[in-house]
Amino acid sequence: MTEHSIAISKTTSKKEKPNPTDLTFGEIFTDHMFILDYDQEKGWYDPRIVPYQPITLDPAAMVYHYGQTVFEGLKAYLTDEGDVNLFRPEKNIKRLNRSNERMCIPTINEALALQAIKELVKLDASWVPNAPGTSLYIRPFVIATEPYLGVAPSKQYKFIIILSPVGAYYKEGINPVKIAVENEYVRAVKGGTGEAKTAGNYASSLKAQEIVAEQGFAQVLWLDGLEKKYIEEVGSMNVFFKIDGEIVTPALNGSILEGVTRNSVIQLLKHWNVPVTERTISMDEIYQAHQAGKLEEAFGAGTAAVISPIGTLAWNGEMLEINNSKTGKISKQLYDTLTGIQYGKEEDRFDWIIQL
Ligand SMILES: *Cc1c(COP(=O)(O)O)cnc(C)c1O
Repeated sequence: MTEHSIAISKTTSKKEKPNPTDLTFGEIFTDHMFILDYDQEKGWYDPRIVPYQPITLDPAAMVYHYGQTVFEGLKAYLTDEGDVNLFRPEKNIKRLNRSNERMCIPTINEALALQAIKELVKLDASWVPNAPGTSLYIRPFVIATEPYLGVAPSKQYKFIIILSPVGAYYKEGINPVKIAVENEYVRAVKGGTGEAKTAGNYASSLKAQEIVAEQGFAQVLWLDGLEKKYIEEVGSMNVFFKIDGEIVTPALNGSILEGVTRNSVIQLLKHWNVPVTERTISMDEIYQAHQAGKLEEAFGAGTAAVISPIGTLAWNGEMLEINNSKTGKISKQLYDTLTGIQYGKEEDRFDWIIQL
């Protein structure tokens, strides 16, 4: 494996670290960041780690106008032994390049991207918080930087990685949430950008989220963009249901984001010999299963929460309560196993961990 050469310029004024029990999400950033530039003539060039700082862009930089940008999200976890664990980072890097391809952004050497994440986290390893449930969130992203107002792929980009110590998602134990099925707005359509982690998908989801939040719901359950019949995702998580002993999740259909957590959940269930199927699931089927008393569990799966149980689904004026608004057995088992592997308390039988 050829090592890439990443120049490191260290900060001369280290920041004060937050109290790990006071951490929230995405408000505090570490001492350093990684930058890699792209130019059509040179390709990707000049990988470097520099002190965390603002970036200056021309107001005509294309990312500001047409949203040509992608991002990733993964975490580093501190073990009881003091080691730092990354969870399946190669999966995030592969997905970053799939998002890049969809958005006409040149792909990035995967070995370099992994090395960049590792070297940056190593340099700022003292920022990986040690309170239970906390972690260091890693945010790689690419922006189109060419100053040009024409609608076309940019000829210049920056790939940047920043790090943010984040608090425990569940401060008082894993808790089921109320979800509203979204019947008006849609997140993505086949042929669109739903499969890519690109900014526009999230900008366009804010309106629906704002409306249901006012009504006391944590998130929306997204239906397909064409018929608004079939289940896609919950908030920015993938979604699973347990119906009559079987776990089902929407099949990847071109408008669903392929989560690393989703993939890990499916692998774990198969390992446990729990029946799991990826297929089309209509909201009507979920309603019928609930009426028949066969909707046993429902949960979201994503890096931030790992597993987020759904206690209530609001649909067409009805409140469908699931498992008496309690965390189900499979949800809890998945949460405990995934976090156990991430924090180095459970055997890493699938080779998911890369230790720094
Ligand atoms: C990031 C994301 C997910 C979850 O992916 P993970 O890799 O598990 O964190 C699911 N849906 C959407 C829309 C996302 O942006």
